[in-house]
Amino acid sequence: MPTAPTFYVRCNHFLSLAVDENGQPCRFMVKASTENEALTQMSQHVQKVHKQNPKDLMNNIKACIHQTGTKTFGTRGVGSGHH
Ligand SMILES: [Zn+2]
Repeated sequence: MPTAPTFYVRCNHFLSLAVDENGQPCRFMVKASTENEALTQMSQHVQKVHKQNPKDLMNNIKACIHQTGTKTFGTRGVGSGHH
């Protein structure tokens, strides 16, 4: 199977006041195989942990979702780099 892209979003990128119960910046990170899944998981996090209304943050979350998955780990790349 080809490597699936991974979408990730980090909590404190869009919640500048996001701190955990110890007053430390929240470092919660979501990784998901689809953008929608990442959005859903982060919405649940901000609602549960930060008591924020995720509807207010939807656009912020979306703006902070990044995609990875083009890297391979220790094996040859797919379809390129033949010697
Ligand atoms: Zn958080």
